Amino acid sequence: MTASSQPVFAHVVVQVGAPHLDQPFTYCVPEGLRLAVGDCVSVPFGPREMIGYVVGIVSDCDAEILNKLKDISGRIDDAAGFDEPLWRVARWVMDQTLSDAESTVRLIAPEIAAARLRRRVRLIQPDIDSSALPPDSAAIVGALRQAPGMTLDQAALGKPAEIGHALSRLKRKEIVARETSIERPQVREKTVRLVRLAVNADVAESETARLTKSRAVKQARLLGELAAGARQSEGVAVPEAGRVVDADMHAAAKALAERGLIAYHEMAVRRDPFGPRSLTRTTPPPLTDAQAEAARAIGAAVEGKSFAAFLLFGVTGSGKTEVYMDAIARARAQGRSAIFLLPEISLSAQVMDRLKARFGDEVAVLHSALTPGEWFDEWQRIRRGEAMVVVGARSAVFAPVRNLGLLIIDEEHDGSYKQDSVPRYNARDVALYRARQAGGVCVLGSATPSIESFYRAQTGLYTLLTLPDRVQSRPLPPVRILDLRVASKSEGPETLPPLVRGLLSQPLLDAMRERLDRREQTILFLNRRGFAQFLLCRDCGFTFQCPNCAVSLTYHRGSDLLQCHHCDFRRDAPATCPKCHGPSLKPFGIGTEKVEEAVQAAFDGIRTLRMDRDTVVKKGAHGAILRAFKKREADVLIGTQMVAKGLDFANVTLVGVINADTALNMPDFRASERAFQLLMQVAGRAGRGEAPGAVMVQTFNPDHDSVRLAAQHDYMSFYEIELANRRELLYPPFSTLANIVCSDETERRVIERAHTVAQLVREVAARPSADGSPPPRTAILGPVACPLERLKNRYRWHVLVRCASKKALTGLMRKVLSELEPGERMGVMVDIDPVMML
Ligand code: ADP
Ligand code: ZN
Repeated sequence: MTASSQPVFAHVVVQVGAPHLDQPFTYCVPEGLRLAVGDCVSVPFGPREMIGYVVGIVSDCDAEILNKLKDISGRIDDAAGFDEPLWRVARWVMDQTLSDAESTVRLIAPEIAAARLRRRVRLIQPDIDSSALPPDSAAIVGALRQAPGMTLDQAALGKPAEIGHALSRLKRKEIVARETSIERPQVREKTVRLVRLAVNADVAESETARLTKSRAVKQARLLGELAAGARQSEGVAVPEAGRVVDADMHAAAKALAERGLIAYHEMAVRRDPFGPRSLTRTTPPPLTDAQAEAARAIGAAVEGKSFAAFLLFGVTGSGKTEVYMDAIARARAQGRSAIFLLPEISLSAQVMDRLKARFGDEVAVLHSALTPGEWFDEWQRIRRGEAMVVVGARSAVFAPVRNLGLLIIDEEHDGSYKQDSVPRYNARDVALYRARQAGGVCVLGSATPSIESFYRAQTGLYTLLTLPDRVQSRPLPPVRILDLRVASKSEGPETLPPLVRGLLSQPLLDAMRERLDRREQTILFLNRRGFAQFLLCRDCGFTFQCPNCAVSLTYHRGSDLLQCHHCDFRRDAPATCPKCHGPSLKPFGIGTEKVEEAVQAAFDGIRTLRMDRDTVVKKGAHGAILRAFKKREADVLIGTQMVAKGLDFANVTLVGVINADTALNMPDFRASERAFQLLMQVAGRAGRGEAPGAVMVQTFNPDHDSVRLAAQHDYMSFYEIELANRRELLYPPFSTLANIVCSDETERRVIERAHTVAQLVREVAARPSADGSPPPRTAILGPVACPLERLKNRYRWHVLVRCASKKALTGLMRKVLSELEPGERMGVMVDIDPVMML
């Protein structure tokens, strides 16, 4: 760097695989290298070269580090970077979630996770007299001279520590040049093998005739088709692409190729996550009045080109998806792009197909079921602006679209929008922030909006749009609550096989029998998300609640204790029920296998399908189970959460909920809300077709608000009650929570650590802030063992912190983390706005 030129420095986030390092690092930008935010660069890091991303360009830096700075080695042009607006979004996520820069950059440069740097050295002065060089340099030059193209992988020249100095010297003297590129394993272009004619059409036709005579049927057919194709394209300049050889034609093609009549060639194709299925293009239906009104409001905002947020509240089947598609069309008409987010679970369902059918090749999909190759192709199509409509799960909120005008979050209440690893972001919040940054519109949609979102709509932060009725006035199915307290008493052991008792009540069995007789189908839904067990009285439905926190107490079989996983309230598990004094207090928890066995025991020869995390691990299994059920290959589908969403089967006329109580008794303040959402959603599954549907909910708590109001399809009443509870107990939206989870291999250390952390939170929270204002009011619950006390061989304890202001809470957590000793910090994770507190 000469004194006359203006020095330029770059802040670079280096992919070193050490998330606790304080990034970014500062480097000098060598003269002549023009860099921008988002560029992928190669930088010296210790003795090695590493991949990094430029996140800032500045013209000054601290004098004391100035002479320690190293130069950026160069830009890696073939790597996919990002642009500055996207980095701004990522940086915001980093601040909000207290994440490290390295993990954050991976959100917007996802290919980096799979990439490696490839460094090559090329001799650019082949005539150099190596005898004038020091021996180590001469050896390098000698080796390069022998190599094809006078280029070698740097690794082939020796270890970095041994050759580093010599290489730098040679580079400085411009005897060699170093080239860096990104190597992507797995993600190469995909090609298909095609055949085309290697002779002219006349020859091909006479050969076809000969082959037909000699009964080489398949050869004749293939050659004949190719000849016909060649005739059609005669006089057309574009060469014929050829055709794919089907499996049963391989032998015929080989024979023809051996005789020189046809030739094989490879053609690059785009991996299409939709596969070869072709979808018929659809046009929008005339909208209903309610739809049109919502569409008009959103459309006006899109055309206004400034930030706006809407909450689209409409029951299942009210036509929300049509409203989304209308909004997308309007954004596209403005030349702007759109991102449509769905919960991961719904992605395999029909919504993607509907978008593809409406918007064709403009649609790109991004979700975790894609292979790296498919992901890479879609990502590139988005970056190049070929795909302007992105459909995807949570991480698609970071899709590198240009000119973003619209973000849609369907099923906005869904917990899967929150990532449960670093960075712990919620895609819903990111979408709102990104829309604001881009001057775009954000639409949150749900039949059962989260309490927080509905509250924001009520307080004017979002514009509320309502679709009150189902399209074509299809009625919502009647929901019948089956009181298991009665059932468990009235069923004698003689009347039913033992497994059925306690799992399937008589009215549900009767209803299933009717469906069997009418050749209609049943879905049995089982909630299994709770790992935690609770005690339930089979006689009166009583469960234990924490007197402080209004969450269910978790039962610990080993110690026979009941415990609150928010505040550590504990009590002995009594032998008899405190309410009815009966003897039927027992732990509760069942699996899909048990239900399947019970169903098979109750009905001879009944055909069942099971769908849960275990049966859908294989790629495509999810779709295969659903297709089989759609083809009526089973009478009953038994499943967990996965069956609750996105399914639409005309022949399903009965939905049974086996255990509403599990959802109600999650050790989490959102348990009631989740139970309500789940029941509402399940209820929406039945009666989608012509035949009217019925829903039956088995529960020991028929009077619980979540159960009662879901059965009446009454969101508003539930919202009012739940909001009042939250207000009283100062839960969100009236506060923000941070969940600090400590983990360690030994129990003693994790308990110590949790206490250290809690003490530190208390201390830091008591300090007045820098501007002298008093500390914000903060409540600290715990430390206490997590509901999942051990996970992956680590013990887990947590501290829950509640604060009225999110900003203050984030600041407090940042200070706490920075004041922890590095060794302790490794075993501490902070989740702000936690969605799951297991
Ligand atoms: P939601 O997303 O709220 O569950 P959908 O958009 O999926 O609702 O609509 C439910 C059903 O009604 C779908 O089969 C859809 O094709 C149909 N539908 C939606 N809007 C209209 C309309 N305006 N006219 C006719 N059919 C419609
Ligand atoms: Zn408690």
